[in-house]
Amino acid sequence: MKGSTHLVIGLVVGAAAACYYPPGPVQSAAYVAAAAMSALAPDLDGTNMLSAKLGGLSRAIHRGALGGGVIAAAAALYLYATGQAVPAVLGWIGIPLMLVLMSVSSGTIRNGLVSLVGIGLAVAGARSGETWLIGLGAYTAWAPWLKHRGMTHTVWALALWYWLGRELEAERDIPGIAVVAAAGYASHLVADTLTSLGVKWLYPLYRKSIKLPFF
Ligand SMILES: [Zn+2]
Repeated sequence: MKGSTHLVIGLVVGAAAACYYPPGPVQSAAYVAAAAMSALAPDLDGTNMLSAKLGGLSRAIHRGALGGGVIAAAAALYLYATGQAVPAVLGWIGIPLMLVLMSVSSGTIRNGLVSLVGIGLAVAGARSGETWLIGLGAYTAWAPWLKHRGMTHTVWALALWYWLGRELEAERDIPGIAVVAAAGYASHLVADTLTSLGVKWLYPLYRKSIKLPFF
């Protein structure tokens, strides 16, 4: 299933969460970003078929994500270099945009870049003492070297993602963000289950693909 489809589903999950939970611009952005990012995260794994069939919409999203990600990163760098506080919202926008970018390309260079971003996140997490950020960094650094639709597409990975969400919820005090992140991640596995390739939900306990091929 295409990255743009997963992204749209994730955005819907995030928008629903933003309506459900108490309002606030930063919190609403956090729900949408967490759900969108979680819906894309499983496809940070190894070589996938997405790059080969980038349609018009995916290409537009790809370019938009690249531009937005570069602007957010440049703004964050500028603020950091001039000794000003970097607003959290820049991260909430920049990181998901970069993930979009990376979930629609493939190859060793892409894998290396994804790992580098992961290491950067883990280092940032270690410096700020945030477990969720260290975990997210480790996941991001590790995932690209895994087989496509392998370990990242299992209930074990979903459980790990929920745990990272719990840490984020406690450390950043955003009520419900763990459930929102898990819902976003689960939406990806469910959507892939609806394709002919299916998902090995219980791999390696049960090695067969589970599928309900509607698409
Ligand atoms: Zn997938």
